[in-house]
Amino acid sequence: MLDWQGGQPFCSRFGDVYFSRGSGLAEKRHVFLEGNQLAKRFASLQDGDGLVVGETGFGTGLAFLCALQLFDEVAPPRTHLDFFSIEKFPLDDKELADALALWPALRQYANELVRCWKRRVPGWNRWAFRNGRAHLTLVIADVAEALDEVRSDIDAWFLDGFSPGRNPEMWTQPVLDRIAQVSRPGATFATYTCAGEIRRGLEQAGFQVTKSPGFGCKRHMLQGRLAGLPLVRRTPATAVVIGGGIAGCAAASALAARGVSVTLVEGAPTLAAGASGNPRGILHTRLSAGMNPLHRFVLASYGHALALLDEKLPADGTVRAECGELQLAFSAEEAKRIDKLATLGWPEHVFQRVDAAEASRLAGIELANGGLWFPAGGWVVPPRMCDVLAQSPAIVQRTGYHVDALTAVDDEWRVEGRDRHNQTWFCRAEVAIICSGPKATSLQPSANLPLTPVRGQITLAPSTRASENLKTIVCTSGYLAPSTAGFHLIGATHRFNDEETGVRIAEHLENLSRLAEMSPGLAKAAAIMSQGAGQLEGRASIRASVPGAMPLVGELSPRLYTSLAHGTRGLITAGLSGEVIAAAACGQLPPLPLHVLAALAPTARGQQGSKQTVKTTVTG
Ligand code: SAM
Repeated sequence: MLDWQGGQPFCSRFGDVYFSRGSGLAEKRHVFLEGNQLAKRFASLQDGDGLVVGETGFGTGLAFLCALQLFDEVAPPRTHLDFFSIEKFPLDDKELADALALWPALRQYANELVRCWKRRVPGWNRWAFRNGRAHLTLVIADVAEALDEVRSDIDAWFLDGFSPGRNPEMWTQPVLDRIAQVSRPGATFATYTCAGEIRRGLEQAGFQVTKSPGFGCKRHMLQGRLAGLPLVRRTPATAVVIGGGIAGCAAASALAARGVSVTLVEGAPTLAAGASGNPRGILHTRLSAGMNPLHRFVLASYGHALALLDEKLPADGTVRAECGELQLAFSAEEAKRIDKLATLGWPEHVFQRVDAAEASRLAGIELANGGLWFPAGGWVVPPRMCDVLAQSPAIVQRTGYHVDALTAVDDEWRVEGRDRHNQTWFCRAEVAIICSGPKATSLQPSANLPLTPVRGQITLAPSTRASENLKTIVCTSGYLAPSTAGFHLIGATHRFNDEETGVRIAEHLENLSRLAEMSPGLAKAAAIMSQGAGQLEGRASIRASVPGAMPLVGELSPRLYTSLAHGTRGLITAGLSGEVIAAAACGQLPPLPLHVLAALAPTARGQQGSKQTVKTTVTG
């Protein structure tokens, strides 16, 4: 996609440059930062407020990095930058790194971007910068499609498509109209072009447009604003998060990064005592080509989770491994799903179609089928992830505190209960987030949340000389992870409406039986292990699930949020759900398209019925 001409990146597809041949850095600063008066606006942000910058055309990310650097240098503490950008033709890893290497002054910011970039997925991406003081929401899609799914949050625009003559679809009247529609009152724009039709189009969209001096040899550029004054965004001072599993820890972490003082309450003596307490959990991304809202959410969550893990829990082989995951075409139905996904033509770092020989080579053991290879798949130690997320000076952990009631009192939420000595206890906070898994229904019974408890058991099977060769996670209707410390993780069973947590031999046998779907060799090993199933170790825990498997994430009633029903996908979906909640609580840009947010919203789902029977879908 990217070519070089005279030492500068050039795009042959459009026959245009990503930035001026003179000095791209000076040009971006002149046109976009000064054109939107960002230095003044960043510096005068009030405590808890933020600014949302929108961009058409992410390109090399240079304009983003210029804005990030300026924000970092001049914005007061406890303020926030959201940068929203759209890019249909993203550069590959090397192209981006090479293009950004041109700017040594931006190196520390560019390094953060390059690290996240390898986690990009089609659609919506959300990554944190400067320890969560800034976020990039990058939509990899066509401009018109992306703009349809944004809320009216944008304060300042960088209109940076290629020149209107070469890239007309970035400058159509519907695109310019939509840019105005998704802006806040008083929003500004700047662009390097001064073409008359663009000026008229922006005026028609509602902007007051002026011509100003352009950069370098360009005489003019355009800048402008919408009428009105933006309202100040407000970050709450305090929040209480109920539930110390991965969903609660991720929500607490996202709020703490925004300067909110968080009380994280967990009834058990430690964090990660429930379903997040397994010794290992896999990052399993199950998609289908139809890409319904659940699949879009899972895909966006996957990219987000990988970047979050890179920041918080590097893959060192002890607390996390990026060993890759193979999803095998072990049945006609799975083969169909995989074939359809493979036709999407997505980048190879997301997934690749592999045949049985290639799958066997990747796995290090012989497999009966090919399938999809997710090179970034892997496993983590969930309790470590919870601990790392909950470690922040802004988070007070209250483990061993059982919550009995949650009530709205004078614009605050009051949480009361008993501590481990059975003493009554309470706390108050401006916002509350319920992340207590299947127990959540008792806290807001009137919401009638359609949660079903699901028991799941994993098996820890001792490795053999042959099985030690397994290098990747292998998934069929269950999964098998490579051995660590002499044990393979095999999982997991699903028992709806079963809340008993004792380990059962029958469920070990069920887990082992899935190995037969992977290869004849593993079937043989499983048959031998089944004879000693009584000696196998394992763990059973209770998750919450909902009909359709779409978690309940969002605002339930004013200043009360839920992050619930992640089923078996919590390691992937909890992080982005924390972002959804923290952004909503702080009036910031949501990290997901509007139709996915609507599908996640707990309010719309409360009346679907209480106890579900086995119709619920859970993957794993
Ligand atoms: N802001 C970028 C920077 O600082 O490096 C430069 C952007 S470059 C001038 C324009 C970008 O718009 C290109 O990366 C191009 O791929 C993207 N683009 C072109 N047509 C598009 C479309 N229809 N939807 C989304 N992005 C598009």
